[in-house]
Amino acid sequence: DTADVVILGAGPAGLLLGNLLQRGGVDCVVLERGSREHIQTRARAGFLAAHTVRILRRHGLADGLDRHGHDHSTCEFRSDDGRFRLDYSRLGRGERHTVYPQQALVTDLLAHYLDAGGRVRFTTEALEVRDTDTDRPTVTVRTPDGRPAHWRARYVAGCDGRHGAARRSLPADAVRRHHLDHGVSWLGLLAEAPPSLDAVGYGVHGRGFAGHMARTSTVTRYYLQCPRDTRADDWPDDRIWAELALRLRTDAYGPLHQGRISHRGVVHLESDVVEPLRHGTLFLAGDAASLISPSAAKGANLAVLEAELLAEALLDDLAHGDPAGLDTYSARCLDHIWRAQEFSHWMIGLLHGSPGTDGEARFRDSLRRSRISALRDSRAQQDWFAEHYVGVGAVRAA
Ligand code: FAD
Repeated sequence: DTADVVILGAGPAGLLLGNLLQRGGVDCVVLERGSREHIQTRARAGFLAAHTVRILRRHGLADGLDRHGHDHSTCEFRSDDGRFRLDYSRLGRGERHTVYPQQALVTDLLAHYLDAGGRVRFTTEALEVRDTDTDRPTVTVRTPDGRPAHWRARYVAGCDGRHGAARRSLPADAVRRHHLDHGVSWLGLLAEAPPSLDAVGYGVHGRGFAGHMARTSTVTRYYLQCPRDTRADDWPDDRIWAELALRLRTDAYGPLHQGRISHRGVVHLESDVVEPLRHGTLFLAGDAASLISPSAAKGANLAVLEAELLAEALLDDLAHGDPAGLDTYSARCLDHIWRAQEFSHWMIGLLHGSPGTDGEARFRDSLRRSRISALRDSRAQQDWFAEHYVGVGAVRAA
């Protein structure tokens, strides 16, 4: 089998890329390990940056989020020192988030792609990408009936996440890998309950971080910092609601709407970047290029930004014979990626205490309190926060 561009992975990055290439008349195919049902129900991100929404609107792919997404622009911090709110639409660049579940975005992107005649192979796992130092790279896959098969391409786009075949196939001496384990884990929860706050809630507590994020009018995402060796099943619903109440200080600020916990999973906060995002005719985008901890809700937004850049570069090359965009793709993405990584790292420091009672733990905890009080009191700090919190995409001052 052949295609000009073989795209690995039908997440936000792969499906946006597929849509843009398909419209540009490029022959492409998306190979996805999971089933259609799996990708359309996999709940992950929910907060789309203004820049992401602009990209999707620019390409006529925002009908679903314009109909069902809702604007969001407030976050609330609760700690030993009280609580305060920031309306970030009145700070920084004055931008808002759109709350729209990632699985709904994936469903929309897939529908647009298929309507335009796009090709997808579900339940098809990429095993290896070979000959990426030539102009005929090959992807070896396992087909739905378990047989091996090969796809030949001019370019391969690795949008298959951190554990995908694209990353695995990079020769060790061709890329540098940057990796940081933040030493923090979260229990990620979906509750069948309406949001309890009209804000993102950040509970900073001696027992650990707790987060509240709206998803829809009937579903709310919560996070609880947990020990590294936690198994999701260790936490029955009662224990979850009790701990959320404590860390979000409901005795002082009002109760949470409770409901069945429909999903629980442990997320280790880790970050990594592969540099450059290219080896020969293989390009990386989204989580395959850079994994970012969910502390600042950047991953899906970076995936969309990178997919648009990669689509433009591939179209320039394949339609006009101009490889300049492909040559600068990695450097342009890395600029955005490192800014997002830096902000995400700053958020981790803002939200988490250090374990232990020794002098160093006390020192770090005092730094964290000071970081929160600066955010509460300094307008300049708030503007900086708002610009980075809702933004993705490095914007140079005029
Ligand atoms: P993915 O969405 O992971 O898609 C990759 C696809 O490739 C998958 O469908 C997978 O099945 C497929 N695949 C994998 N291996 C293979 C293979 N070998 N062959 C073929 N197919 C393969 N980001 C935000 O911006 N905002 C948020 O609010 C946010 N919240 C998050 C909450 C949680 C709990 C988690 C875990 C993540 C969150 N993120 C958030 C991050 C965001 O979900 C990811 O960054 C985003 O999904 C990346 O998109 P992607 O297309 O690169 O990869």
